[in-house]
Amino acid sequence: MSTFPVPLNLLADAQLALTQPTEYPPASLPVPNPTKSYWLHGESGVNPLASEGSEGPLTADADICVIGAGITGVSTAYHLSKLVRNPVRPLKVVILEARDFCSGATGRNGGHLTSRAFIDFHEYALKYGQEEAVKSMAIENHTINRIIDLIRADGVEDEVDLVVGGHISLVLTNEEMANAKADYEAAKAAGLDLSQVKWIDKDEMQSKLGTSFEGIYVPGHNLWPLKLVTHLFRSAQNEETKLTLHIHTRTPVTSIKSLDFQSTDPLARRWNIATSRGSISCSYVVHATNAYASHLLPHMHGPGGIIPTRGQVVGVRANVPVEELTRLSWTANADFEYWFPRPVKSESEHPLVILGGGREAVGPGFETYISDDSSLEPIVSKALRKYLPHLFPGKYAEDREPEMEWSGIMGFTAIGDPFVGPVGQGYEGQYICAGYSGHGMPKAFSCAEVVAQMILAEISGNPWSPPEWLPKRYLTWEKR
Ligand SMILES: Cc1cc2nc3c(=O)[nH]c(=O)nc-3n(C[C@H](O)[C@H](O)[C@H](O)COP(=O)(O)OP(=O)(O)OC[C@H]3O[C@@H](n4cnc5c(N)ncnc54)[C@H](O)[C@@H]3O)c2cc1C
Repeated sequence: MSTFPVPLNLLADAQLALTQPTEYPPASLPVPNPTKSYWLHGESGVNPLASEGSEGPLTADADICVIGAGITGVSTAYHLSKLVRNPVRPLKVVILEARDFCSGATGRNGGHLTSRAFIDFHEYALKYGQEEAVKSMAIENHTINRIIDLIRADGVEDEVDLVVGGHISLVLTNEEMANAKADYEAAKAAGLDLSQVKWIDKDEMQSKLGTSFEGIYVPGHNLWPLKLVTHLFRSAQNEETKLTLHIHTRTPVTSIKSLDFQSTDPLARRWNIATSRGSISCSYVVHATNAYASHLLPHMHGPGGIIPTRGQVVGVRANVPVEELTRLSWTANADFEYWFPRPVKSESEHPLVILGGGREAVGPGFETYISDDSSLEPIVSKALRKYLPHLFPGKYAEDREPEMEWSGIMGFTAIGDPFVGPVGQGYEGQYICAGYSGHGMPKAFSCAEVVAQMILAEISGNPWSPPEWLPKRYLTWEKR
């Protein structure tokens, strides 16, 4: 067999890279000319809100300004619209987005909506104790269940291309297998329901799925992330009696200044947000800027904050019909790589497979401190082209060029967990919800709910109490 297209067992090195002091500057604003992703450009008219609110007058005044129109920013507006009770007048919420609607990581990711199930449980339990380890899994299951429930309740399974296909983690090395077994045993001992997990040996993997590595089956989903976020936005906008929701796309926020205010009214205007098109006064600010957080919050730069990290993805046509590939989604090599076949109209169709990863092939930087998604890394491009033909001989053609290839910027943290909650002293009324370390789809919706709860509690003067599924260490004040 030829050499594996990417180096293996580099997770610890990648984590170490996140802890090193850096000479790079804070994140830039999102670049204005990003690569074109399948999710944003793969179908005509797929992004009806792309340029929403990008022309005409800018909203001058709002109760809450949310910066960023990815899954976090839009979910914050969604939860505000569902949670706000009997407001004296509808809350005025504005989303400000630097580029097109949902054109950050959410519009350029791998499309997976799958929980960790039990992976990393052992490490979490050792580092943070069993209760936190259980919550680390609970938040992901909670998020996925809530998203699936709302998709089904609203009858939009087809609209968002929801696939309930299951998921396989390929186990490529003995080290990975030993870690997975330790995680499984620890999670089982802690009482997690692992009844759907299946360990699949090499023979079965070869005969049924065409690859010679062992696999672990867990429940898993994939969908079209932009379409989900578009649906969330429209749902929030429908709650007219409780909330007026506006969005200004193509409106980068360049700075936030404190207003001179003396009031104890929680809805007094405290912040002035400067954008490329004018400024807005508001009472609350939500930084839903993920990888770009340190642009507006320079103290969030570096190993103690959020590190922009470039990921790369291809859409490549399989060499066989979908029935020979199955509808499973996959990850391998400690989740560095991830892929799944897009839904097809007929069983004989050769599906487009969305495959991301390959940044471990680049060397010690692992694409960290890069906030430019207008370009591609050639070493990653090469690794991705070789990847599936190597793992599934015959199912992918070695010389077939991808139909699309793009990059996107993830927000990594050194400890792997997001920042959720108030920004801190001197930033009263500002909240952050960001830094999912490349695994935001099963977290962002719920983290946004937490921030929406906190803001509404502050407005109503009631205390906020944490939901039982929230890991305590996600909270900003726990990180100081
Ligand atoms: C290549 C790639 C593959 C991935 N694959 C997966 C996967 O399969 N499964 C998974 O769970 N996760 C995956 N992720 C991670 C996941 O996509 C993210 O965790 C999630 O989308 C984060 O959502 P967000 O809304 O917080 O950030 P984003 O979607 O990045 O949204 C932030 C928004 O803020 C805007 N913004 C930033 N600064 C400013 C400013 N100053 N003014 C105005 N707007 C601003 C940006 O333009 C952007 O639209 C992947 C990410 C990438 C890049």
